[in-house]
Amino acid sequence: MSGVQLAGVTKRFAGRSGSVQALGGVDLGVDAGEFVSLLGPSGCGKSTLLRIVAGLLDADGGTVTVLGRSPDAARRAKQIALAPQSPALLPGRTVRANAALLTTVNRRAATGDRPRPSVDALLAEVGLAPVADARPHQLSGGMQQRVALVRAFALGAPLLLMDEPFAALDEIRRAEMRYLLLRLWQEHQATVLFVTHSIAEAVALSDRVVVMAADPGRIVGVEAIALARPRGPEVEDSPAFTAHTRRLRQLLASAMNGGVAP
Ligand code: ADP
Ligand code: MG
Repeated sequence: MSGVQLAGVTKRFAGRSGSVQALGGVDLGVDAGEFVSLLGPSGCGKSTLLRIVAGLLDADGGTVTVLGRSPDAARRAKQIALAPQSPALLPGRTVRANAALLTTVNRRAATGDRPRPSVDALLAEVGLAPVADARPHQLSGGMQQRVALVRAFALGAPLLLMDEPFAALDEIRRAEMRYLLLRLWQEHQATVLFVTHSIAEAVALSDRVVVMAADPGRIVGVEAIALARPRGPEVEDSPAFTAHTRRLRQLLASAMNGGVAP
């Protein structure tokens, strides 16, 4: 099964103080089963790109293919799960009901040959079985974000789009979530397009890190991450991790200086 292909994708927004070229011609391919992160400063078009792939926003130009179809068709066929920055849990429902939300809304969703994972099994896997009947306000922020992760995987969609899902967490919880996400990803074999502005997060998670710059939003470099899997927290202490981090920091710095190396 194919992943995601973008060719020459452009998007311009009209704003109060003139218009902004959110994406100025983006070419990107993500293989089926690959974990790719988009890394870049605020305003470089990461969320815009994700929303276009999700079928929630139309590009002005270029072509986008998601699992062999248009983004809109893939979205309607429930082939895409989108995890937002804030978990958006319903306060009146239990953890289990929140985790199952997309599966109950899309009861008849076509997931192809993929069996839909059980919500209770997923909750157990991320350590939330004991609080399955609790309400979201009884959980910490990190636990709430785990519910959102389970919700995304419970749909059984082959493509997961995640827009800075851990941005609201403190550094310790955030680092834990990386390896939890990787476990779920390896087990359920999804393709992931992950947005972050944390270099360490991008390196720890990804097969490839795509570095973007703003105005116009564009790709300025791609770093293939040569770290063995499965990965755990100890990977962040390795010299290879440090080398990737250093190169990405330099790429980002030159991108933010208008493409001129510092
Ligand atoms: P990122 O997610 O990398 O921070 P965005 O994709 O949100 O960047 O935004 C890219 C650019 O497009 C920014 O300049 C932003 O202000 C602008 N933009 C995004 N969405 C809209 C919108 N709906 N209307 C007008 N401008 C927008
Ligand atoms: Mg964004």
